[in-house]
Amino acid sequence: MTAKPAKARRLIVLGSTGSIGTNTLNVVDHLNRTAAASIQVVGLAAGRNAKTLIEQARWFKVKHVAIADAAQSQAVREALPDCTVFAGPDSALKLVKEVEATDCAAAIVGAAGLASTLGAIRLGLTISLSNKETLVAAGELVRPMLQASGATIIPVDSEHSAIFQCLNAHRSGETSQTRPPIKRIVLTASGGPFRATDKQTMDNATVDQALRHPTWSMGPKVSIDSATMMNKTLEVVEAHWLFDLPGEKIDLLVHPESVVHSFVEFTDNSTLAQLGPPDMRTPIQYALTYPNRVGGCSDAMDWSTLRGLSFEPVDFTRFKAPKLAYRVIEAGGTAGAVLNAANEVAVKAFLERRIPFGRIVELADEALSQIPVQPLDGLEAVTEADRQAREWVENRLAEQSMTPARS
Ligand code: NDP
Repeated sequence: MTAKPAKARRLIVLGSTGSIGTNTLNVVDHLNRTAAASIQVVGLAAGRNAKTLIEQARWFKVKHVAIADAAQSQAVREALPDCTVFAGPDSALKLVKEVEATDCAAAIVGAAGLASTLGAIRLGLTISLSNKETLVAAGELVRPMLQASGATIIPVDSEHSAIFQCLNAHRSGETSQTRPPIKRIVLTASGGPFRATDKQTMDNATVDQALRHPTWSMGPKVSIDSATMMNKTLEVVEAHWLFDLPGEKIDLLVHPESVVHSFVEFTDNSTLAQLGPPDMRTPIQYALTYPNRVGGCSDAMDWSTLRGLSFEPVDFTRFKAPKLAYRVIEAGGTAGAVLNAANEVAVKAFLERRIPFGRIVELADEALSQIPVQPLDGLEAVTEADRQAREWVENRLAEQSMTPARS
């Protein structure tokens, strides 16, 4: 008797034109071509890159697309006459609501991805989550939503994928313990381009220097977050919500090779780690095929060429950002939304060469200290905190005459 073919999964890719989005489509193509999975791409959402969106829609024969920049929508409509095109700031959420799907890759960058990711959670989809900002800003709202809708989140961020995989490995041998006996988890950090740079040089780094990540190829926002180590701040908060762990059980360690993606120390002092090449296609594929593992499309590690794995503590005197994570977890409520939005505005200002590199984290820190934390009783509270933080930072930018970053 032949086995029935698995029912095709219907995937929406939010942020399809970005670094994670394009990698996701490459992984989907690999899985379909190798018959390791059957995944139909049924919706694509982009910000403003009409050209890539059109190419992707043609490649996967997608009938529904969204583009946030309404000015680009006419070009998309003309190029894709058989497609429904949603346009404007709410277009990704409209796409999620209108298109019947089973899965959603949430890979829009920043708070712009919040509404559509929450929309997909509300609809009970299986979410491969890259948009860490959703959990940072609205983690408290997400858990009850998951329970109500039956949605599942599979983390894509390499560190969280590593922890998820370690916990799955533990659970597969577990019989009696409902909660894994975790002593602590350790998220590894490459240290970014300024790992060994003195503070003064780092504070005055140029945009080009800050974008030059030593091990990962990523979009501009997450690259700058890696350089300030704000990326780790967001990841600690993300881990808090994903794995239901208090801040004191989430540690950081610098690991420049980016091979050990993170690890879990159990109460018996044994440690499970997940290792692999620094290639986002690996965690993306794991999220799309979980709980199965199939032939990978990323290059395998050549372990024989690896001469060592090194670890060092985070230098919190040069990198002030990671400590903010613990303040956010402690404060709860809207603190995460404030930090995230303040950081987004500060990163944008740095990329526009309006502030020096060293000012990014200072502005996020000041916003977190100055803006009162409110209870997180609904999405409106997140939106309001986000608005306030953006306005607060913009006002500081307008007030202060700052040294522009060198280009
Ligand atoms: P990119 O900047 O490369 O891509 C961002 C994507 O979001 C693009 O498709 C962009 O569209 C889209 N977008 C931006 N604004 C909007 C909007 N208002 N509405 C709809 N779509 C929008 O980012 P990355 O792929 O690097 O990162 C995406 C997310 O994944 C981030 O949250 C990041 O923290 C996380 N992440 C990324 C990793 C990486 O290796 N890159 C690793 C782990 C997590 P367009 O280009 O058309 O404007």
